[in-house]
Amino acid sequence: MSSPPRIVWFRRDLRVADHRPLAAACAAGPVVCVWVCDPTLLAKRHHQSPQRRAFLRAGLESLNEELLARGGRLIVRAGDPAKVLVALARETGASAVDWYAEVSPYGVDRDRRVTHALAENGIDAQQWGLDLIAQPTQIPGPKDQGYQVFTPFSRKWMECEIPAHLPAPARIASVECDSDGLDLLGNDPSPLPAGPDAARAVLVHFIADGHADRYHEMRNTMSVDGTSQLSAYLRFGMCSPSQIGRALGLPGALSEGRAAFWRQICWREFYQHHMARNPYVAGHAFKPAFRDIVWSGTHEDLTAWQHGRTGYPIVDAGMRQLRAEGWMHNRTRMITASFLVKDLAIDWRVGETIFMHHLIDGDPANNNGGWQWTAGTGTDASPYYRIFNPVLQSKRFDPEGDYIRRWVPELNRVPASMIHEPWHMTEDQQAASACILGLDYPWPIVDHADRRDLILETYRVAERLTLRDTPSDTDQATDNP
Ligand SMILES: Cc1cc2nc3c(=O)[nH]c(=O)nc-3n(C[C@H](O)[C@H](O)[C@H](O)COP(=O)(O)OP(=O)(O)OC[C@H]3O[C@@H](n4cnc5c(N)ncnc54)[C@H](O)[C@@H]3O)c2cc1C
Repeated sequence: MSSPPRIVWFRRDLRVADHRPLAAACAAGPVVCVWVCDPTLLAKRHHQSPQRRAFLRAGLESLNEELLARGGRLIVRAGDPAKVLVALARETGASAVDWYAEVSPYGVDRDRRVTHALAENGIDAQQWGLDLIAQPTQIPGPKDQGYQVFTPFSRKWMECEIPAHLPAPARIASVECDSDGLDLLGNDPSPLPAGPDAARAVLVHFIADGHADRYHEMRNTMSVDGTSQLSAYLRFGMCSPSQIGRALGLPGALSEGRAAFWRQICWREFYQHHMARNPYVAGHAFKPAFRDIVWSGTHEDLTAWQHGRTGYPIVDAGMRQLRAEGWMHNRTRMITASFLVKDLAIDWRVGETIFMHHLIDGDPANNNGGWQWTAGTGTDASPYYRIFNPVLQSKRFDPEGDYIRRWVPELNRVPASMIHEPWHMTEDQQAASACILGLDYPWPIVDHADRRDLILETYRVAERLTLRDTPSDTDQATDNP
């Protein structure tokens, strides 16, 4: 007698190679591959990005093609996953459901409910670990509480073995059943080619064309193609971190550029572990002292920031790139986030939500980690008074203003010497550059120096202690993600 089918529940692991639950289920017998369209999740404020939904939809279509090529098929069902999976198991006679774990509080809670519902119906729930290089249990940290800062975590992480390659199942014995469509995700065209083949092409371009070896030199220059652009693919598991590690040449010695790039993959895992261990960070400052900050920013300033009209060219360029491409360079993510929190005194959670609305790679743990790091409320070894100076950052990382000109065309003819702070242009210079301040491009909505003092006082009040050192602006962060 053949064994009963197993259900493989895909979530953010949209690939067939290097997929442990799928490989194990296929080895055991027939398999039902399912993706559950969960209306409760889709209604959440962090899950409404049109661009991300379109990319997800294209990724699911690509996954279906990969499964069809092997004799399988992706079944789509809409509804509460706990009910849908129990019903699907009854319908197909499946004895078990396999899935990779997740770290977001909603995901963890949902999976607990699903496990319970399956158990009540005599169905085995097989939750695999996180789809990462290392599981939190492998990096327990002091007193089994993980690490609160990156560097010690990274030392331990770098020692972890990269999971061995698992080829895609050659053949999937599937089970006949009906499938719903993907209409709940909308019908917009995907902003990027989706799926493992597309991810592989991006990775090959990054490594074979030498970008990975130059990563340490180029990763902060916003105007060049110096980073991998793999984030959306990692977000949905169209490629896995272990595939990336092997492609870089691990285990083995890495060039300086490749090692710097691998360190960024480590940042990703750091934030995933951090949220898994501290789920309350989704919604609250990690550092208790900063949970009750009184934010004084205005709606008007928020709107200017959102639309790239702050009068600070580097901030405006970043925000316009985000809206246009659904992606923003890491350096400008830090600069724009710092500006919202430290210059405009607006709650980091507002910015976190706006980023989630636009980013194709929008990821609860990475985005939260990035925002809290920048706001000084999270896992940062440096104190809150490290404030990004938008002008120094701009001069340092976009010296010729090429990135600014790409996204803020009003400043196209402004010379590099003035482009970082156009408000210093004389009337003649404005006329010569075809950029009249207040008309073609806004005056700065705030004065950075004044705002810096204001926000430091706000944090100081929240922390209820006097600073020991004299705060200073910085154009370079330590332990920089
Ligand atoms: C305020 C803020 C919000 C962010 N929100 C997100 C988000 O929602 N989703 C997201 O994937 N990244 C986020 N990041 C991290 C980082 O900006 C992006 O991962 C990176 O810009 C993606 O481009 P890339 O793939 O070319 O990166 P690369 O530089 O090529 O890095 C390779 C991969 O490493 C990971 N990575 C790189 N830097 C970081 C980092 N600082 N933290 C965590 N992972 C990192 C990403 O998966 C990335 O694809 C955020 C950073 C900040 C400061």
